[in-house]
Amino acid sequence: MTEPETNTGGAVALTFDDGPDARWTPRVLDALRAADAVATFFVTPGLGIEAVAEIAAAGHEVGYHCGRHVRHTDRERGDVADEARADLEQLGEAGATVRCWRPPWGVLAPWTRDLAASLGLAVVLWDADTEDWSGRSATTMLAGIDPSIRAGAVVLMHDGIGPGALRTEASATVELIAPLVALARGRGLEPATVSALTARRERAAA
Ligand SMILES: [Zn+2]
Repeated sequence: MTEPETNTGGAVALTFDDGPDARWTPRVLDALRAADAVATFFVTPGLGIEAVAEIAAAGHEVGYHCGRHVRHTDRERGDVADEARADLEQLGEAGATVRCWRPPWGVLAPWTRDLAASLGLAVVLWDADTEDWSGRSATTMLAGIDPSIRAGAVVLMHDGIGPGALRTEASATVELIAPLVALARGRGLEPATVSALTARRERAAA
C-alpha cells in the first residue's frame, strides 16, 4: 500500500455545498477566519452572487455546484451545459475563478466529466462525509470523520440548507470548523483549497 501522506504535502480540503446562505455562510466565513483556514465553497450562484463575491474576496476558493439542484442523471447534457456556462460567466463577473465542479448529490451522468473538461472544470467529490445535512451534532460529526482525516482528504459540509436536508439550521457545521481544523493540524495537515490540493497531488504524481 502506498503512503498517501507523502503524495499531497500534508493538506486537507474543507468544502461547503448548497450555499451561499444569507444566515449561515457569514458564520462559516467567521469560523474559518477565526481558525485561519481556507476552504472551498461549491456554490449555487442564483442563491446570492454578492455573497459569492465575499467568499472569493476572503481568499477562499469558489467552485461550482449547480443552477437547478437536480441529479445530472435526470437532466439533458445540453440543458446542464447552458446553465453552467451562464452561471460560470456570472461567477467570473463576481471575481471568482472557478476551477472545480461538484454536481448536485455528487451524482455524475455518463457525460458529466466530459462536459466539465470542456468547461475547464475538474469534478471533485469527497472522501469524508460529515452528513451535516442530517442534523448531527458537531461532536458526532467529528467522531464520524476522524478516521478519514488524512493527507489529501476532501471533507464534505454544507453552508446552506439544501434539498433533502433534515435540519433547519447549520449551527453544528459552524461549530465543527474549529475542532476539525485542530484535528487536522494535530496530524500535520493544513487546510487548503481543493485546487491547491489537486495541484499538490499532480506534482507528486509527475
Ligand atoms: Zn447540494
